[in-house]
Amino acid sequence: AKTPVTLLGLGAMGAALGRAWLAAGHPLTVWNRTAARAEALAAEGATVAATAAEAVAANRLVVVCLLDDASVEQALADAELTGKDVVNLVTGTPAQARSRAAWAAERGARYLDGGIMAVPPMIGVPAAGPYVFYSGSAALFDEHRTTLAAPADTRYVGEDAGHAALHDVALLSAMYGMFAGLTHAFALIRDETVAPTDLAPLITDWLTTMTAAVPDTARRLESGDYTTGVVSNLAMQAAGRHTLLGTAQEQGVSPELLTPLFHLMQRRLATGSPDEDLTGLVDLLRQGDR
Ligand code: NDP
Repeated sequence: AKTPVTLLGLGAMGAALGRAWLAAGHPLTVWNRTAARAEALAAEGATVAATAAEAVAANRLVVVCLLDDASVEQALADAELTGKDVVNLVTGTPAQARSRAAWAAERGARYLDGGIMAVPPMIGVPAAGPYVFYSGSAALFDEHRTTLAAPADTRYVGEDAGHAALHDVALLSAMYGMFAGLTHAFALIRDETVAPTDLAPLITDWLTTMTAAVPDTARRLESGDYTTGVVSNLAMQAAGRHTLLGTAQEQGVSPELLTPLFHLMQRRLATGSPDEDLTGLVDLLRQGDR
């Protein structure tokens, strides 16, 4: 028999997770603050609990997919968590995850924190490549690994409950860098005769090629040598700011997404590192303004 699951939260993500467990044959008990949102899943076979505490009481495995950390605190305030396996899929900071883990331990529950690397339409669709980072109780993860894998692949990243959030936010941060770049790129060609749909595949191919920078940066960070095999050195890239910022100005585009990176390059150059690539900026960020 498939492990029964309790699921708290039937927003866009929670509902998608619930559907995936039902489709995989897991008995499912659900609760949502706004009861009407549970009707669709009830029609598909889920049992609807009247309160969060009642939903928690129904099963050992309790998955939480509410809006934020504060809503978890509120929803579970009067639930009995002793002996429960709590899996928290709410996106939060590493510190929030660690304190939520301590909170669960005080209440007698095992705890696993998760970071969902997918949007709702990808859930339950293995070909779309959805996965969830998990960290915290290894025993909980090992016991429920198969059940957790029904909606999306699983990637366990260690006992530190904060590490799922840390991986999640690291990947999101890299993504926002990409969003910043393509926002600026489209702004440059806006009002020109270049069609955005013509530029799009060129940007996609270019970004795909340039992902070689990811493993390069990792290797340099691990070797501590930021200079060997550099093809585009820092001095050349920093000088290129005149072209990039000049083009922005010519096109009437604000440089605000680009200037922070060029500021960092100039600061690194000021310490005399012209032969490196951009890897040294990582250390500069760690040092902040000190
Ligand atoms: P939604 O806004 O669609 O749903 C939010 C859910 O939280 C609803 O069930 C809502 O209940 C509930 N809720 C909010 N505040 C409270 C509260 N104080 N007490 C009880 N319940 C509350 O969000 P999603 O489903 O999209 O996201 C849920 C989590 O999943 C978030 O942490 C999000 O970061 C994460 N996530 C979402 C992704 C996405 O693309 N959607 C991607 C990756 C992670 P009610 O119906 O009553 O309002």
